[in-house]
Amino acid sequence: MRICVVGTGYVGLVVGVCIADQGFQVTCVDRDQGKIDSLNAGMVPIYEPGLEDILRRVSREQRIRFTVDGASAMAESDVIFIAVGTPPSSDGSADLSAVLGVAAEIGDSIRGPVTVVIKSTVPVGTASRVRSEVTSRTDHPVNVVSNPEFLKEGAAIADFTHPDRIVVGTDSAEARDVMQQLYGGLVRTGRPIVFMDNQSAELTKYASNTLLATKISFMNELSRLCEAVGADIESVRMGTGSDSRIGPKFLFAGAGFGGSCFPKDIRALKHMGEEAGVELQIPNAVESINRRQKLLLGEKVIKRFGGDLAGVCVAVWGLTFKPRTDDVRESPALVLIRQLIDAGAVVRATDPEGMVEASEMLADLAGRVEFVDSAHDAATGADAAVLVTEWSEFRNPDFLALKAVMRSPVLFDGRNVFMPGVVEQAGFEYH
Ligand code: NAD
Repeated sequence: MRICVVGTGYVGLVVGVCIADQGFQVTCVDRDQGKIDSLNAGMVPIYEPGLEDILRRVSREQRIRFTVDGASAMAESDVIFIAVGTPPSSDGSADLSAVLGVAAEIGDSIRGPVTVVIKSTVPVGTASRVRSEVTSRTDHPVNVVSNPEFLKEGAAIADFTHPDRIVVGTDSAEARDVMQQLYGGLVRTGRPIVFMDNQSAELTKYASNTLLATKISFMNELSRLCEAVGADIESVRMGTGSDSRIGPKFLFAGAGFGGSCFPKDIRALKHMGEEAGVELQIPNAVESINRRQKLLLGEKVIKRFGGDLAGVCVAVWGLTFKPRTDDVRESPALVLIRQLIDAGAVVRATDPEGMVEASEMLADLAGRVEFVDSAHDAATGADAAVLVTEWSEFRNPDFLALKAVMRSPVLFDGRNVFMPGVVEQAGFEYH
């Protein structure tokens, strides 16, 4: 089976490299010549732990190649993955132009039967639109499979190669066999491939992301209640999360969720509900709680300094939307930095992997945010430090050394990772 993966972003690249590592011959396609050049030079253009090692191995064994020539790659493939972006349109719906553009290119390029596998997160009905787009341009038989991806950035290799389950939407027995062959090596330990119709597979992805975001938002909302009534959200988390019906994951209150998936997928689910005439209250609530939560940390800082941050220098630790990625899309840190700057602060920010990406997103603030190499450098001369992304390198600072270089020892812990007693004992004011 010859495989083509279109789109070499966070998902497509992991899919392509891991499938090549399963022994298949893979061609990865992207329209971004820069990405393809660096991949051909053995360099991974994103930060994803472990990916470069596998890429090096499969490249050495000549099981993967990278090209901008989609048509040729599609023409010689049996299975074509679509893994391009589906960003939000202005009305909140998923923008399918890239997906449908690839579908048209498939229709124009294939020279025999193919299985088209939609990996991108797409609304219900997209498989049928992709099928129409492809089959309007070719007479070759085409099966379209909906195969949403559940990997997390930062742990993408493990998630892809040891999935809890693989969701496959198809009405074709032949496509089912293809998918079983493709994923056979990943489900040998008994994890299921859950087969269903295309529409249900498409909706499952939105249901999963919205449910996870709901857990986070509920805890964020409760954390505000905790502060008001004198309870401790960390204790509440441990008390609830140890109930096996609830589970311990995605219950950490913090500075709000970001990333390229949760925010856009919630918006797209809301839009799907509106189009279908079904009011979905939970996605609406989650979205508004999260919008509120992203402002909370900044409000606390501004309030602590009397409502005006003129002359105040704030160190911001963490720019990516979560640790172990360089992805800053919809990151709470970007919201915080804008809020601090608007209130008059000088910001000194740092991140182990996301500084280039963040400086691009904050280009309009050039000169007002300084990007520095470490948490210690950011804190030097600062009136307050704010932890936004819980990278492990930020979790155990030398508090005494920090106190010695800060103008005032004030710490805002946006992820509840520090032990208040330890921080206060070191002479910090802890929020
Ligand atoms: P991305 O923006 O990182 O990558 C998309 C890639 O597709 C880019 O490299 C772009 O150049 C390329 N591309 C766009 N149009 C193209 C075309 N016509 N031909 C060739 N290449 C083209 O996106 P991503 O984060 O990998 O997400 C891809 C899809 O997977 C989205 O639908 C997303 O919702 C979904 N998803 C993402 C994650 C995640 O953690 N990032 C997880 C699960 C699902």
